[in-house]
Amino acid sequence: MTMKAWIAGFAILLAAACGEKEEARPITGEVNVYSGRHYDSDIVLFDQFTKETGIRVNLIEAGGDALIERIAQEADASPADIFMTADAGILWRADERDVFRAIDSEELKRRVPAQYRHPDGKWFGLSKRARIIIYNKEMGLPEGLETYEDLADPAYRGMICVRSSSNIYNQSLLASIIAHDGTKAAEEWAQGVVANFARKPQGNDTSQIEAVAAGLCRLGIVNSYYTARYKGADDQKAAEIGEKFELFFPNQAGRGAHVNISGAGVAKHAPNAENAERLIAFLLRDESQTAFARGNNEYPVVPGITAEGPIAAYADFKADELPASALGEHQAEAVQIFDRVGWP
Ligand code: FE
Repeated sequence: MTMKAWIAGFAILLAAACGEKEEARPITGEVNVYSGRHYDSDIVLFDQFTKETGIRVNLIEAGGDALIERIAQEADASPADIFMTADAGILWRADERDVFRAIDSEELKRRVPAQYRHPDGKWFGLSKRARIIIYNKEMGLPEGLETYEDLADPAYRGMICVRSSSNIYNQSLLASIIAHDGTKAAEEWAQGVVANFARKPQGNDTSQIEAVAAGLCRLGIVNSYYTARYKGADDQKAAEIGEKFELFFPNQAGRGAHVNISGAGVAKHAPNAENAERLIAFLLRDESQTAFARGNNEYPVVPGITAEGPIAAYADFKADELPASALGEHQAEAVQIFDRVGWP
């Protein structure tokens, strides 16, 4: 070794010893991420990962189901290393299409509670969201309403706004009710909710929030992170809407509110599987968790990490501990029930 090379090597060691993390490492590898999430904060995290590891992140963004189809079509020539998406129901569909490989990682298992990952390591939760009830503040929460099950009570006729049943969020919610109450009770529940609709299902979750705020319906069923787009809004018009509704977490005296995840798994034919595992582990670090969840106003999946942003005021609730995989297992049954009861 020449003196010059020795000095250069020493300088690198010294920089490492001094904790100079800012120095980006040269690119020595890559990882291809197919993501159904579209947040700038995810890209900031990927850049940080590249800086620390020298592994470049190539990002392909599209809808979850479109990406599943693409990976399936690409088959063993697929460059996909990671498939990342929201809702355990979509992760389950991806597994049905044989998109993932099983990862046996003690580190990942330690970080993600068992109910928020696939039992064989096909996918791992990265953040959590709850599907909750909202109510018009002026009209107030109707008396006696405590659980999802209560939403089917004839006392709440004409009060409920909710999106169509073709949406995965409703399929996962009904899947959780099937898992807890059984198929027959779940069908009766869906029938009761349909009878309590304030209007025919239309629009997305934010449409339901705006309808509740406007008093078109007293109650709505929506994912928690959408409420933060109003509750924490800089935009005055959105903030005014945020003033007109309130969140209600159901089943707090029982099993807890229905919780779902955003998650990721290593692709079956991943050319860079080791890098993929490293990136997932990186996203589960304490420092990454808050930022990753914050990107979509979700809750961190790693226990003990606090939620940030407008959702922080709504982070202290009892969550249903039903394994996320059960949401996929009951998905087909949920779709059949929705059809039978005429929930469009
Ligand atoms: Fe969403």
